[in-house]
Amino acid sequence: MILGVDIGGTNIDVVLYDGKFVHIATYPTQSTITRLNDILKELVDKYKVDAVGIGFAGWIRGNKILKAPNVNFKPSFSLDVPCKLDNDANCFALYSSHHFKLSNVLGITIGTGIGSGIVVEGKIYRGMGLAGEIGHWTVGGDETCTCGGKGHLECYFGGWSFERRGLNAVELIESGKIYELEGFEKMCICVANAVTLLDPEAVVFGGRIGGSLDEKILRERIYDYLMPEFRPKIKTLNDPLAVAKGACLMVMK
Ligand SMILES: [Zn+2]
Repeated sequence: MILGVDIGGTNIDVVLYDGKFVHIATYPTQSTITRLNDILKELVDKYKVDAVGIGFAGWIRGNKILKAPNVNFKPSFSLDVPCKLDNDANCFALYSSHHFKLSNVLGITIGTGIGSGIVVEGKIYRGMGLAGEIGHWTVGGDETCTCGGKGHLECYFGGWSFERRGLNAVELIESGKIYELEGFEKMCICVANAVTLLDPEAVVFGGRIGGSLDEKILRERIYDYLMPEFRPKIKTLNDPLAVAKGACLMVMK
């Protein structure tokens, strides 16, 4: 029995896995984060859990959070069963690979920021731990990023950058205006460049914003920047539990 946890900026989602996924709880992050370790301990006892996987929006190397540019806390865990912590976009990419039954996947999560996870031959590719930080690719300009850098992709596309410019993500998506933004163009260029580096079978978009984008428009715009020999499937996966589910799978890999 595996427990999968997704710690987001707004909510913490928890699922159980024993051959199939069951959603067991969602907690508001702000009021829960400081006592999350105790809550997880109780869940581990209650459901006789063997291991816990946790997806977190931060830069993680060797089970340790180095930096979390888009959330203002760094949780730590001490449980009585094995507990693995991983970047939330890595968990998303792993679940995408499982869901679409594809071994080589580039997962892109667009919510507050932009994350990406790389699955190669069914396994997460981490490099030294931080691989896949496409949101912090330099695309030019002087806008400051939440990580302390400047001119990063996240400064132009995604939740916090929309908020900074007084834009509402839901309205942008509903009106279709999101596809006219300079930031959308920059994001498509970055994804196309990543495709030439990795040649994945599919690029899967998820997260509050990414999972709501139009597959057809994404495909056309990304293909615009790719040589015709590169034609990965372009998909969206609009499942708010995808990271928690991927965190379960991550523990088993
Ligand atoms: Zn940055």
